[in-house]
Amino acid sequence: MSRKHKAIALFSGGLDSILSVRYMMSLGFEVQPVFFRAPYLVPDKACESAAKNGLDLIVRDISAEHFALLKNPRYGFGKNYNPCIDCHALMFKTAGLMLGELGADFLISGEVLGQRPKSQMRDGINAVSKASSFADLLVRPLSQRLLTPTLPIREAWIEPDTMLDFHGRSRKRQMFLARELGISYYPHPGGGCLLTDVNFALRLDDYFQHTPEDRYQLTLLNYGRHFRLHPQAKLIIGRDEKDNGQIEAHYEHGILMMSRVYPGPLGLLIAQEYPSSLIQQAASMLLYYNKKAPGKALVNYGHGFELDSSIECEKAVFKLVNDTIISKDKETL
Ligand code: SF4
Repeated sequence: MSRKHKAIALFSGGLDSILSVRYMMSLGFEVQPVFFRAPYLVPDKACESAAKNGLDLIVRDISAEHFALLKNPRYGFGKNYNPCIDCHALMFKTAGLMLGELGADFLISGEVLGQRPKSQMRDGINAVSKASSFADLLVRPLSQRLLTPTLPIREAWIEPDTMLDFHGRSRKRQMFLARELGISYYPHPGGGCLLTDVNFALRLDDYFQHTPEDRYQLTLLNYGRHFRLHPQAKLIIGRDEKDNGQIEAHYEHGILMMSRVYPGPLGLLIAQEYPSSLIQQAASMLLYYNKKAPGKALVNYGHGFELDSSIECEKAVFKLVNDTIISKDKETL
């Protein structure tokens, strides 16, 4: 038999992507899984999943390209801010451009025909292929028997009969295959892509309305509670220690603030100008989320980690005064 061809796999870390990789490996193919990251496509789940399944994962940043498509996806959005058809096509295209670099011959993914609305319906899958520029090199091992044979099948790099015919939303056959392949770790479905999250969609909407392209603010959308105080001012308040740590880790500019005496959330105010009334407003909102703070307390703040100024303020009482203050009911963007 001629040499086994090598595949690059789009790898989200979910069960279907693990199966597609491990199944092709079980047929003797070398497979290189790749995760494509952007500020809202975080690789944590994929990295954990790869490590626990003994896979050597490559993570590549596609922020610029992905963000560009997010502004005007040719095939539109799913339920929230998820442009799944364009997104998959971009990932396949980027993976296709890596074929030479990685010495690979074709591309695979864990897509299952009919599993998700739109992007995994037959029309959606065909649209992804067409827009990827590498349509003839794409193989979806879990459903390939139900799809048009592409070059790796026609050229018999892959035995057509080894391809599977998974279809629809039920995951029974996936579970069965996972057991057969000895896959014991896979995460719960969902959670990998923030673009499918309704709260994140609100934040992103707000970002597009008020922020010129700014990687810093885009990255911060992942952490904490977000408040639009006025068109040029945004307040972020950490929900827990992890958020506080992430806000600190990504801090580039703006006013950081924290209660002087009562440990609690870290606030980050990003604005064009910082009049004292704005700082006062932000500080009192910060206190609102500090359970230990009394009704009135000192808040330290500053441009940087020193927090070298302080202001005394009262805990905010959330009311929708006008559209520039977000009420308790609409607390997070
Ligand atoms: S769920 Fe997110 S990562 Fe997955 S295809 Fe859709 S937009 Fe892309």
